[in-house]
Amino acid sequence: MSKVGFYSHNDYLKHKTGPGHPERPERLQYLTQHLKKTDVFAGLTFLSPSLCDINRIKQIHPGNYVENIQNACKNRSHSLDSDTVVCEDSYETALLAAGAVVDACDAIVEGALESAFCAVRPPGHHAEPAKAMGFCLFNNVAIAARYLQAQHSIKKVCIIDWDVHHGNGTQSAFYDDPTVFYLSIHQHPLYPGTGLADEKGQGEGAGTTLNFPSPAGFSDREYLQMFENDIARAVSKFKPEFMLISAGFDAHQHDPLANMNVTEEGFARMTQVVHDLSKEFCQGRMISVLEGGYDLDALSRSVEHHLRVMLK
Ligand SMILES: [Zn+2]
Repeated sequence: MSKVGFYSHNDYLKHKTGPGHPERPERLQYLTQHLKKTDVFAGLTFLSPSLCDINRIKQIHPGNYVENIQNACKNRSHSLDSDTVVCEDSYETALLAAGAVVDACDAIVEGALESAFCAVRPPGHHAEPAKAMGFCLFNNVAIAARYLQAQHSIKKVCIIDWDVHHGNGTQSAFYDDPTVFYLSIHQHPLYPGTGLADEKGQGEGAGTTLNFPSPAGFSDREYLQMFENDIARAVSKFKPEFMLISAGFDAHQHDPLANMNVTEEGFARMTQVVHDLSKEFCQGRMISVLEGGYDLDALSRSVEHHLRVMLK
């Protein structure tokens, strides 16, 4: 069995967002078809996720929020905000997305896998504990961080978020928590508008949030400079036991929702930095969770390059 797991499921296609919505089922269909044509495919262990236990979701989201999402789907409310939409199957799909990341935590801690990529929908990093937004319902990566701590006695978790948008939801979940280090590099100004350099955490969590708001036009070179210097230095100081990546690929030069100039080679080199840090501090234990990425071809090729580094 390969040491790198790939979690996905056909039921992720059931979360239907409607015509013209960038976060569409085709993202995962195209990605899977693309990977099948590459050498990466044979190296991965394909795994089917289970539905996440509601109690795991409730470690990040209040019970009434979870019920509201469930009811909105049951009642086919469609829009939760201007760009976050649900259909009848979205609640279960969101449970399956969080379930993939939680399953990956178990498999890695138990030693069946070293690392994993979760090709899930809907994404999660904009979901605040009590507010769905930015295409996100449940915060998959935040649920995983808390699960690792609650279930597997892992004390310090690092979340690196290179999606081109700031992960406001993840930041909110751990803003006063010194045990989860949240780092984000994102285009600024851009949706959702948070993630300024002076947002560094509060109370006991002061210093364990780090934001790199970056102007449009940054390319591989500027990203790499930040990863190899500031990010590597900050993570080395924190010494995490487990590494999570909020892996959005919408900083790609061809992405329609943002204006960065990262290439798939750039994503590979960023992966290498994080992979090296996970080897140094976390015994290689790392889970990468899909967030954004809206150009089908750019997304698929970027994930291919990302996985190739994880497989090394
Ligand atoms: Zn994004």
